[in-house]
Formats: sequence, structure tokens, C-alpha cells
Amino acid sequence: MSEYQSNVSDHERFLKDSKSEEDSLNSVNFWMSNLDITTYDFPSIYHLLTKSFIDWQQLSSSLPIMEHSKWTILGFDGSWVAGDITISDYLKNDASVLLDECLQHKTKVMADWNPEISHYKEEHTICLFPLFTRGCQELYSIMVCSLPRQKVENGGIEIASAMSILFQNCFYKRFENIFVEDMMSEQKKANDEAARTAILYQIVERMHDQIDVDMILTEVLDSVAFLYPTATLQLFMSQDHHSDNPRVKPLILQTWKDDVRVRTFMDGKLTIQETKQENGEDKLEIGFPLGGTQGVYGVFYLLADKDFLNEVDLQLVTTLVDTAGNAFENAKLYEQSNLLIQELRLINELTQRVNQSLRLSEIYQFSNEELLNIFKADFCCILQFNKKLDGLEVVSSNVPGLAKEVFEKDYGFGGLVYGKGEPVILSGYTVNMRIPSKFMEYSGSESLIAAPLTVKGEVMGAILLSHKKSHYFTYDNYRLLQTLSIHIALSVSNALLHAEVKRMANRDVLTDLYVRRYLDEVIHERQTHDFCGSLIVVDIDQFKQVNDMHGHQQGDKILKQVSEIIRTSIRQSDLAARWGGEELAIYLPQLGVKQAMVVAERIRRRVEEETAPSVTVSCGISEWNWLDDQVSVDSLFYLADMALYRAKNNGRNQIQVEDKSITKAPGL
Ligand code: GH3
Ligand code: MG
Ligand code: MG
Repeated sequence: MSEYQSNVSDHERFLKDSKSEEDSLNSVNFWMSNLDITTYDFPSIYHLLTKSFIDWQQLSSSLPIMEHSKWTILGFDGSWVAGDITISDYLKNDASVLLDECLQHKTKVMADWNPEISHYKEEHTICLFPLFTRGCQELYSIMVCSLPRQKVENGGIEIASAMSILFQNCFYKRFENIFVEDMMSEQKKANDEAARTAILYQIVERMHDQIDVDMILTEVLDSVAFLYPTATLQLFMSQDHHSDNPRVKPLILQTWKDDVRVRTFMDGKLTIQETKQENGEDKLEIGFPLGGTQGVYGVFYLLADKDFLNEVDLQLVTTLVDTAGNAFENAKLYEQSNLLIQELRLINELTQRVNQSLRLSEIYQFSNEELLNIFKADFCCILQFNKKLDGLEVVSSNVPGLAKEVFEKDYGFGGLVYGKGEPVILSGYTVNMRIPSKFMEYSGSESLIAAPLTVKGEVMGAILLSHKKSHYFTYDNYRLLQTLSIHIALSVSNALLHAEVKRMANRDVLTDLYVRRYLDEVIHERQTHDFCGSLIVVDIDQFKQVNDMHGHQQGDKILKQVSEIIRTSIRQSDLAARWGGEELAIYLPQLGVKQAMVVAERIRRRVEEETAPSVTVSCGISEWNWLDDQVSVDSLFYLADMALYRAKNNGRNQIQVEDKSITKAPGL
């Protein structure tokens, strides 16, 4: 048995193994048979051949044939790919016919040729084994073996042929791996895509379910963080937006100038910039505008590795951020409309409450209570400008020690609001003590909102609300107080107007004294619970002559002078009225004739002295007390009038008291 024959069994076993492997590669054969291998790009095929050759070398390293033979792998264009390069050179130059035959005929070329190779110790035979794809019979490689001639004669060709089949199997195996890897990677891509679409769908659905602005922002941040765990995410919001999420931050336009975030916000489009980190790492800064149909609200900022920049990921995050932007806008609008409804409800409730009364003190009291309740504030103080005192008077407050206090009109926050006619918001009193305030100090408050009380463009007071905590009031609170104060001012103005109308209805236009009807009502009312009272009737003497002499207008002036003397000669509780023409009347509650005479005398004397042109008056006095029989108002007047008549008859410029013998006027 020849040296080779002894080893054939080994080879057969090996080939059998290879064959069984080949069976397992049926699927690859299928691919191979349908594949036009030449459409593959050269480098990848050559790479595959090289790798397969290494595999093949490993498998065959222990075989005896390997000791003597040289092997080389050529590509389908005949160029060297792997193995012994001298064989390739030889084939290209000296034995090119052989190579051409292989390349052109595309059939099994087994050339037993005998080249003289100088550097081989013995003479060699070169065998070429073209390798074809199965179906298309395309040449994809040529395996070349250089065998010592002596071995060729001992069955070496068959073994070499088997070795070429082994190489083919190695190649198929590699090829299969590529296919499987390709397929798996395609499968993975498809799975990833499906997972992304599913996640995107879920996220979008969740976002649209949200009506809470903050939840939407958190949702988009969490979603992107989940999809891209290595990226750094932040959300920069341009609006006055408070968020508990630490990744939501304010967008500071002025300071950052040419920053990616500012450019994204200004241009409203995706902005990408390469950046070098402090640790020398190259990163990508990506800004996605967060906006809706009405504008851009912020910037979704992503700091990612450079490989992040692929279309699919950018598209995915853009879709997410766009969806979040729209959802944010909807939620914001919803929030705003809710706020508006809430505001309208509060305005409605407050106006209903304060309009229940036309009394100023009650309006202030109600407003005080309602405002404390609406804003959940600790303290309230309502100030009204008092013309007489030329200061701001506390008309309602729950701060002990402030009631009825009157401040200089430019003192404290009330003075500030009153002076400027503008609202104020303060978040920390002790850190910003520029304006001294008893209201803040007495109440120990830190936060303040204040608004002016303005009627027809004229500031008439101020409302101050405070809280012990700093940074308590929001911008919305500040705005709402402004709105509410307009309604409170309106109620105050109504009450003032009503009081004025009421006052005017009971007053005489010329003298500004009460009218007779009102005097009648008051006397009638007082008689129900007083013990006594007096009535003085005052009549200007010879007034007809005064008119004739000085004119009617001058007469009016004198009438006014006399009225003013009366007004300043009586107590606050007394009531002076124009009874008719140039006759005036004074009711003095709880006073008898004696005391009334003193008052009448004071008036008589002052009129005589103070009027110009000088006139005199005559007075008639009557009285009632609870011991009398029912004394009607009319009879009281009648008795006073009778007394006056006597005064006239007695020479005028004097006082007469009712005649006690006349107890009742005839017919009264
Ligand atoms: P005596 O009361 O002293 O008896 O004389 P007299 O002239 O005041 O009395 P008489 O009642 O006759 O006249 C009242 C006059 O008062 C008549 C009227 O011209 C005048 N008089 C009444 N009301 C007004 C008024 O509102 N303005 C002016 N200027 N005169 C008035
Ligand atoms: Mg008269
Ligand atoms: Mg008269």
C-alpha cells in the first residue's frame, strides 16, 4: 500500500464528515443555486474566500498531503486571493493558458502540467479546481494545488480534488453564516422597527390621553430615555412653566445666544451640532423644537454619541417631540380654559356676594372674606383714600391692630399701589425690604399681591393680600386679583353712587339742608322711641324786601348763608331742613324748649351778625314729650308756626315758644 493509500481512509472519513456537513448546508445550497455570486462586491467575496481558506487550512493541517503540497486561492477573475502567491504569479505569467481555460470554459479543468519551479526541491504538478455555484454554474473561485509529481502519481489528484470540495464546504459554511447573520440582522431590524412602532403608538396614545401639561412633558422625557438610555435628555421651556421634573428647565434666551437650544427655538426646526466634551469625547447636541400650531414652547435637548445620527432615530424622536408639542398645546389650552372658567366662576361668586349690599362697610367686609378664601391667603387689607384726612384709611382688615388706621398716602405697598395705580407682586418681604410695610410686619408675611381699586380711571384705594410663606402667590393669582379688584371697585362705586343719590333725594338743592318730607319722616320715626324733642321754625324777616332791594340771586345767597349758620349751630344728631320758601326748620331730638331756645338764640344772633347784607330771623319753637297725648308731626309744626307768627307780630328778630294753652291745632 502506498504512502497515500494508507491515508485515503482518513481522507474519506474526513470527506464523509464534510459531506454530512454539506448535507446540513442544504439551505445554503439553495441560496447558492439561486445566487449570482458575481453580483456580490469583490472585497466581500474575496474576504469570504480568505476566511474560508483559513478555515480549510485549520481543518486540513494534520493531513499528510499538506506536508508536500502548496495551495492557493484565486478569485473568479483569476487574481490571487489567499495562499501561496508564487503559484498565482506563475499561472498569470507562464501558465496563463491554463488559467484562461479555467476562466473561460467554466468546466472542471484538471490540468496535469509539469512546470519547472525553481525554488521547489522537486518537480511539481499544478492542478486547478474551478469552483462553481450550483444552479447558475458561475465560477466564483479557483483552488490551485501544487503537488510534487511523485505524489500525483500516487493518487494525489483525487485527494487534492477532495480537498477542493472541503474548501468549497468551508466556503459554503462561511457563506451560510453571512446569510444567517444577514437574515438575523434583518429580522432584528424588523423586530426593532415593530417594537419602536408599538412603543411610539403607545406613547402617542398615552400623550393624547393626558390633559395635564406636566405629565405630557414627563411622558416624552421618559419615553425617549427608555428608547435611548445612553443619551442625556433635557427639556427647556420658554414659558412661565413650573415643573416638578428636574429635567425640565427654563430656556434663557438672552444668555445663551448662539446655543443649539436657542437656535432651535428661534428657527423652530431640528438643529444638530457636533461638540467636544470636557473629557475630550465627541458628542452630538441635538435640539428638537417642542411646539404646536400656535407656536414653539420649548426645546427638547439631547446630548448623544455621534452614532446617534441616523435617520430612523431622528425621525422617531422628532415624531415623539412633535406629538408631545401638540399634546402640550392642547393640554395648555384645556388648562387655560379651565382657569378661565374657574376665574369667571370666582368673579361671578364675588360680585354676587359684594353686590348683595349697597353699604360700603359691608362690601369691604365681604370682599375681605371672599379674597382670603379665593387665594387661601393669610391676611387681607383694604385701603380707601380719605379726602378729609388726606390719607389711606384701612376700611377692612383681618390684621390685628390695623383696623381704622390711616396711613400717609405714599406709605407702604398701599401707597405704592395707590400712587402708581398698578398692581404689585412680592415673593420675599424680608429679603427685599425696600418698602416698609406695617401690614407685612404686623402680620409676619413674606408674600404679597396687591391691586388698585380704580373707579372710572381714578384710583380710590388698594387691596393687599399676604401670606406668611415666601413665593406663595403665582402670576395667575396676581392677574386674578387685578380682575377681582376691578369688580370690587365697581361695587364700591355703585354703593357710593347709591349713597349720593339717596343723599340728594333727601336734600334741598339750594340750601343743601334736608327736605321737609325727610324731616317729617325722621321726627315720626324718632317719636317711636325717644322721650322728647323740639322743633324750631326759622323764618327770614322781611325777605320779600331783601329780594326787592338786592335781587333774587342775592336773596338766594342770604338763604344759603342762613342755612349754613343753622348747620354749624346744631349738634350732629340734630336735623335741619328747608320747610318751604325762606322758612327753615330744625328738629332737636331729646331736647326740650328751654334747650331749644338756647340753640335758636344762637342762630338768631349769628344771623344778625354774620349775614351780609344783614338780615334777621324770627323763630317759633314747639316741643313734645312722651307724657303728652300723641303729638303728631303736623301739630308740632302747627304749634311752632303759631309761635313764629307771634314773633313776627311782636316785631320780628326774636324767638317765641309755643303757647301751652293751645294743645292741638284745629283740625289736626
Ligand atoms: P315776614 O316773613 O317778615 O313777614 O316777611 P316776608 O317778606 O319774609 O314774608 P313773605 O312770606 O310775604 O314773603 C316771603 C318771600 O320770600 C317771598 C319770596 O319772594 C321769598 N322767597 C321765598 N323763597 C325764596 C327763595 O328761594 N329765594 C329767594 N330769593 N326768595 C324767596
Ligand atoms: Mg319771611
Ligand atoms: Mg315766610
